[in-house]
Order: sequence, then structure tokens, then C-alpha cells
Amino acid sequence: MSETLRIPALSSFGNLPLARVSLDRGGALRSSPTLLDELWGAPGTRVMFIAQGRSPMLDGRLMLKDSAQVKRPDTPIYLGRTLADDPDHGGVPEGTHILLAVLDAVDPDILDDDGWVDLRAAATLLSGRDAGIFAQAAAIANWHAKHTHCPRCGTLTEVTEGGWVRRCPSDGTDHYPRTDPAIIVAVVDEADRLLLGSAAAWPEGRFSTLAGFVEPGESLEGAVIREVAEESGIEVHSPQYLGSQPWPFPASLMLGFIATAVNTNQVPDGVEIMDVRWFTRSELATAVRDGDITIPTGVSVSRALIEHWYGGPLDESVAEDRP
Ligand SMILES: [Zn+2]
Repeated sequence: MSETLRIPALSSFGNLPLARVSLDRGGALRSSPTLLDELWGAPGTRVMFIAQGRSPMLDGRLMLKDSAQVKRPDTPIYLGRTLADDPDHGGVPEGTHILLAVLDAVDPDILDDDGWVDLRAAATLLSGRDAGIFAQAAAIANWHAKHTHCPRCGTLTEVTEGGWVRRCPSDGTDHYPRTDPAIIVAVVDEADRLLLGSAAAWPEGRFSTLAGFVEPGESLEGAVIREVAEESGIEVHSPQYLGSQPWPFPASLMLGFIATAVNTNQVPDGVEIMDVRWFTRSELATAVRDGDITIPTGVSVSRALIEHWYGGPLDESVAEDRP
């Protein structure tokens, strides 16, 4: 394998499982005050369920029930309309309106408890459409769960705009779903080695690309430079954006970058990051294959960044299992 720095190819970075566009979100429809009344119970409208981050999954697909057969919750959320008929998707035709019912707890009348899966576990198993719907549903449900009251006056807010705005009945302010941007970065040195860190909170031997939240008043590039310096003592320049995906655990948007290191004398911060190492391609392939280290799964931007740098998929089968 060539050790030259690979120019980022956007297409090869475009297969992030949670970044797939799956619905026409129908932003213009949301403003109709009768939207949910018209859709709930109408022929063809389907309902997705979510309870504490888990949704019912049957035969490898999200369960999308006919809304006429479902008890209407107080505040359903309009997710959008399916974009294209998918023959593998249980006969949900193009243009089907999907509503979200957020439940307090798993409902065994809908599906047994063990049929309710969490997005992280389901992401790579689901079709693009279902993974996209699930990411959207998880993110908006998480926002409602934690933003019930007006941040200005403390009054309980009312859900409006198809579930995409909360309005304060006391002072009339509108409150919109928030997303927390976080950068994640493949740091590469002049010898084209990759920098990976191991966080204090992780099991021993787990390594990933460095990441952190963007602070108020900060650019994405500024966040890349600051986070890398804070966590590893490495100075980087020329951060280049590669791609993003929502990470609704509970509310992040992960923005993937690659950046070039100025120095190589890494120093972990000793608080958040306990170990930082440089890897050549062969060192990383061997360490992953032999199980000396573990890297994030295919659902993550980190894995996409690592394999983007590596130039292909990394093989995790352990040496003993090989013929
Ligand atoms: Zn208020």
C-alpha cells in the first residue's frame, strides 16, 4: 500500500449509516395547524414509535404501523414523507406520511421488549431509509424530552409546527430543536501516520480519533485546532472538512475533518485522554487484526475517518481465527 497522503474523496466518505436522507421532511406542511389531525388515522399514514431511544424492529425493518390502528398520543411529531418506493421495505410506498409517537416506555402490546432496539445497534442493519428515519426520530424525541419549559420564563411550552417548535404561552417565544456540533478529526503527520487517542472513560485498548464539542463563538476549524491541542498537545493546521452525520445520543452532529500535524511529540491531557499514539498503516492494521487495540464500529464517523486514511476497510478478525 502506498504511504502517500490520500486526497479526501467525498464519495468514499459518504456511506455514514446515520447520514442517509430518507424522508422529505415537508417543512412547509408543518405550519398547518390541522396537519396532524388530517394525517392521523388517514389511509396510508404510518406511525413510528420510540421509547427512551428504542424503536420496534421486525424482520430487519422499523415497524411502521397504520395510524388508524394506533392510539393517538398527545403530541405526535410529523417526520415527513417517504421519497421512493423500496421493494425491500414492507410495502411502504413513495409519498407515505410518517408520524412519530414518543412513548414513556416500551409497549409490549406493540412488540415484545426484546424487539425494541437502540439506534446504535440497529444503524448498520437497517435500510438507508429506516436508519435516516430513526436518527431523525431519536434526535427530535431527545430534544422534546429535555426542553419542556421556556428557557426565558420557565413556563411549560406547547408543541406546535408538527412537533418541530415549542411555543411559550406566557411570552409567545418560539423554541427550536437544538443540535450540538462536535468536531472529530483524523490527525496525520508528515510521515502520513495517524494519531489516535484512548479516553479515560473507555475500556483499555480502545482507540479513536480525537473529538470535542464546538464552543460558542467558535468556528469548526478553530474547534479542531483547539481540541487536538488540548487533548494531545499536537498543533495542527489546515483542517479540511470531509463529511458529517447526526449522532443523536442525545443531540450531537459529528463533523469529520482531516488535519495535518505540525509536531509529533504528543502529550495526552491525562484527564479526558489517557494515551495518544501515532500509527502507520501497517501498525494499525496489525494492532486491530490481532486485537491489541479496538477501534470504533462502522456506525461512527471515527471509523469512517480511520478507514478513509487507511484507504479501505480494516479487518478485525483475530489472528487465531485465520486459516
Ligand atoms: Zn416563556
